[in-house]
Amino acid sequence: MAEKLSKTKEILGKYPLCDRCLGRLLAAEKPEQGYKRLGEELKTKLLQEAEDATDDSRESSALLIKSLAETGFVPAQEAATRLGLPFEEKTCPICLGKLKDEVIETLASEALRKISLYEFEDFLVGAYIPKHIASIEERIFSEFNLVEPETLRKEITRDVGKRLESILKKPVNFSTPEMLVLVDIFTATAEAKAAPLYIFGHYLKLKPDIPQTPWYCSSCWGAGCERCGDTGRIYPDSVAEYICEPSMKLSGAIWYRFHAAGREDVDVIVEGAGRPFIVELIMPRRRVIPLDTLRHLIREYSGGRVDVENLALASRKDIDLLKEVMEGAVKRYIATVEFEKPISPEDMKKVESMLRGTLIEQLTPVRVLRRRGERMRRKRIHNISAKIVDTHTAQFEIEAEGGLYVKELIHGDSGRTRPSIAEIIDNAPGRITLRFLGVLKTLPLKKGES
Ligand SMILES: [Zn+2]
Ligand SMILES: [Zn+2]
Repeated sequence: MAEKLSKTKEILGKYPLCDRCLGRLLAAEKPEQGYKRLGEELKTKLLQEAEDATDDSRESSALLIKSLAETGFVPAQEAATRLGLPFEEKTCPICLGKLKDEVIETLASEALRKISLYEFEDFLVGAYIPKHIASIEERIFSEFNLVEPETLRKEITRDVGKRLESILKKPVNFSTPEMLVLVDIFTATAEAKAAPLYIFGHYLKLKPDIPQTPWYCSSCWGAGCERCGDTGRIYPDSVAEYICEPSMKLSGAIWYRFHAAGREDVDVIVEGAGRPFIVELIMPRRRVIPLDTLRHLIREYSGGRVDVENLALASRKDIDLLKEVMEGAVKRYIATVEFEKPISPEDMKKVESMLRGTLIEQLTPVRVLRRRGERMRRKRIHNISAKIVDTHTAQFEIEAEGGLYVKELIHGDSGRTRPSIAEIIDNAPGRITLRFLGVLKTLPLKKGES
């Protein structure tokens, strides 16, 4: 106690801390009776010491009473007045006098009001502390050699958290809370931030000419101009919108982000296993989503253009998995190709034997060069089967490493992709119709795992 008292004297000589901040700085751990009581106790003892002072220490005692009075400590203010000592009350430099039970109470009820709009199982409280306040606090810690005292932030978040926990009967979650409550004692405000909700699935694109994400007009970037007939778009719809709009509605989210394992060209149909995707819903009001209903709504909203399968709740981590799937997965395609010259069964055998298991070297296709930049890709064809449809038309079923440009594999892109089907059978392809049959690998999903 004696050490605490001398430290208090030192600190208050320089910083007029309120009872609660003083108690917090000097407590080894939070005392049963609270920081405020500890602060009061320390100040009371120091005041007694000063009032009992002998003649020769009168001057330093007067200074001590003055500094105690300046922290707003009422008994010291009364003593100062009695002794005719002038003083000027100052504001606590750490909490600016805002750290009071009433303020904590207000923050908690404001938080409750805001979060009542949302569905969540657990939560976490965060506190906004201005930078200059945090640095004053740190300076005091190091200036007086204080051993790991609790910070203002910690005290606020714990106090508000405790109140919410007892009212909500829901636990605090430090790593992946479904609800984040942000409080600010300096403005007495609280904000609710619902964690994003993630829904995983595979999508099927049943009709061609739908881009994966909105394709805006490159002349007006969505504003509307003559070129795009005032729609602002090149294509009126997108897979992302067909999936995300109903998801947003059902969850009561305010916005969304669409993540997919790669993308197909706009004219490519997606069938079979489909393409894995995750919808990220921002500020969702509901987290318990009937996935069967969602699937039904997506089918309805897209007018049968888009379907989804394997819907499941996911987590943020699964977005990275989407990219991994993209890297390592085997993808399946069916390409129907019309050639300029007639084709023969020998051509088909040649294609199969020369491409099965072969590593294809591709320079960035000319058609995407402007967006992607030049680079060499090496992707393996795991399997290919070729069959004749009619005199000029063949169908190829291809299983290849993710990232292979399939159209270029067929026409050769003026020699930038080698080998190519056109090169192998010395026949130029005309119309190419591509269907994507999805990825042969799925995500190991489990809700809440992180
Ligand atoms: Zn304070
Ligand atoms: Zn336009």
